[in-house]
Amino acid sequence: MLFSELPLANPLQRAIRAVGYETPTPIQEQSIPSLLEGKDLLGIAQTGTGKTAAFALPILQLLLDSGKFRAPKTCRALILLPTRELAIQVEECFKQYAQFTAISSTCIFGGVGDASQKNCLVRGVDVLVATPGRLLDLIGQKAVSLKALEFFVLDEADRMLDMGFIHDIRKVVALLPQKRQNLFFSATMPDDITKLAATILRPNPVRVEVAPQSTPIERIRQELYHIDKRRKGALLKELLLEHTEMKKVLVFSRTKHGADKIVRVLEKAGVKCAAIHGNKSQTRRQEALKNFKDEKIRVLVATDIAARGIDVDDVSHVFNYDLPDVPETFVHRIGRTARAGKDGIAISFCAPDEEQDLRAIEKLTKIKIPEGDKAIFEKLPPPQKETPESEMRNARGRGFPRREKQAQNSKPVQSPEPSQASPKPPRQQPPKTAQSVQQARPEHNSEQPQKAGFHKRRRNRPGSKARRRMRELSNSNG
Ligand code: AMP
Repeated sequence: MLFSELPLANPLQRAIRAVGYETPTPIQEQSIPSLLEGKDLLGIAQTGTGKTAAFALPILQLLLDSGKFRAPKTCRALILLPTRELAIQVEECFKQYAQFTAISSTCIFGGVGDASQKNCLVRGVDVLVATPGRLLDLIGQKAVSLKALEFFVLDEADRMLDMGFIHDIRKVVALLPQKRQNLFFSATMPDDITKLAATILRPNPVRVEVAPQSTPIERIRQELYHIDKRRKGALLKELLLEHTEMKKVLVFSRTKHGADKIVRVLEKAGVKCAAIHGNKSQTRRQEALKNFKDEKIRVLVATDIAARGIDVDDVSHVFNYDLPDVPETFVHRIGRTARAGKDGIAISFCAPDEEQDLRAIEKLTKIKIPEGDKAIFEKLPPPQKETPESEMRNARGRGFPRREKQAQNSKPVQSPEPSQASPKPPRQQPPKTAQSVQQARPEHNSEQPQKAGFHKRRRNRPGSKARRRMRELSNSNG
C-alpha cells in the first residue's frame, strides 16, 4: 500500500511527501482507515513503529472534514504524553503533517513558566499536546477547557502508569465530554493498563498490535568491560580519548547524580558533553539534545527516563555505564545505535555487583557479550580498596535500599565472592520488573525534579539519617 492510496486530503498528502514517507508502516496501514471511520483504537505499539503518524494523520483529516472552528481557550484534539520530550516531539510531528493546512497545534508541559503556554491557548487551539500535570494546572487556572474536545489520545499509557500519573489521567478523563473519539496506545498491556483502557475507550475498539521495528540485536557489535565502580569514569574517558571514531556517543547512567559526575570527568578531559535528566531545566535539556543532534557535543549522558522516546539518528556508540536492572531496558538502550542499516557499537561496563544484571541481559538476548580489549586497563589507575562506607556510597541509587531491606528482614547476606577489584558481594535479588524499578527510584517523575544539592547535603551532614543507616548496615554486614 502507498500513502497516496489512503483517503487523505491533498494538503496532508503533500506534507507526507515533504517528510519523505512513501509507504505506511504496519501500524499506520492498520490504524488509519479505521480511525477515519470514527472508531476508537487500542494500539499496542512502541515509539519507532510510526505510531505518531498513525494517529496524527487521521485526526488531522477528521479535523479538516468536520468544518468546525476552535473556540477561545479550548482544544479540539488532546494528546496526553508522560514526558516533556515526548510531548515536544509529537507536537513537532503534528506541525509537520499540518504544515499545508490552517490547523493549529501547541504543546504544554511542566518545568517552565506557563505564561507563553497560556498565551497560545487564549484563542483556542486545534491540537493540544500536553503532559498531565501542566494540563490540569492550566485547566485549574481556566486557561483552557476540554468541553469542546472531539479527539482524545492517551499515548505511552504504560509509562504514564509507571510514572505515577494514574490519578492525573483519571482527573483529565473525568473532564472530557461524553461524545469523543478515543485512541489509547501502550507498549505493553498488563492488567492495570487493560482496566484503564476500558474506562476510556468505547466498547469494541479496533485493536492493533505491532512488534517494534527495533534494530536486530545481532547487528550491534558489543563489548564488555568488567570494571570496579570507582574506575568506570576513567575507563570511559580513556576509551573516548583513544577511539576518535566514537563521534556520537550516548552514555546511560543509572542515576541523575551519576550522570552529572560522568559529565564532570569527561569535561575535565576535554570531551564535549552534556547530561539530560530530571533535575535539568527543560531549556537545558532541549539545548543538550539539540547540541547532540547537531554534533556540537560528542557525548550525551542520559538516565533511562530522560532518554525515553528521544529520537536521535546516527548514534555511533551506546555506553551502558551502569547496567540496567531490567534486561529489556538494555535492549532499548543499545537499539539507539545501528539504526537504519548503519553500524553501531554498544559498550557495557559491569561492576562486581552488576554481575547478576549481566546474566539476566545475556539470558534475555541469548548473546554472550564478548570482552573488550584489556590493554586499556594499563592506562587506568590501579583499583582502590573499598571501605565499607565508600562501598555504601557507591551503591547509592541501587544496592543501598535493597541491602537496607535485607538487613531489616534479617535475611542472611551472601558472603562476597573474592574479587580483586572490589570486595562487594554480588546482589542476590531476582531481576526486577520495569514497574517495581520505577516505583523504587526517585528519578522517574521527570515532571517533578528533585531539589538541587540533595545528594550533597545528605552525604555531608554528620550524623544524618543516611550515615546512620550506613553505619548500621556495615555493622550488620559484619
Ligand atoms: P514514531 O514511532 O511515531 O516515533 O516514528 C518513528 C520514526 O519513524 C519517526 O522519525 C518518523 O518520522 C518515522 N516514520 C513514521 N512513519 C513513517 C513512514 N511511513 N515512512 C518512513 N518513516 C516514517
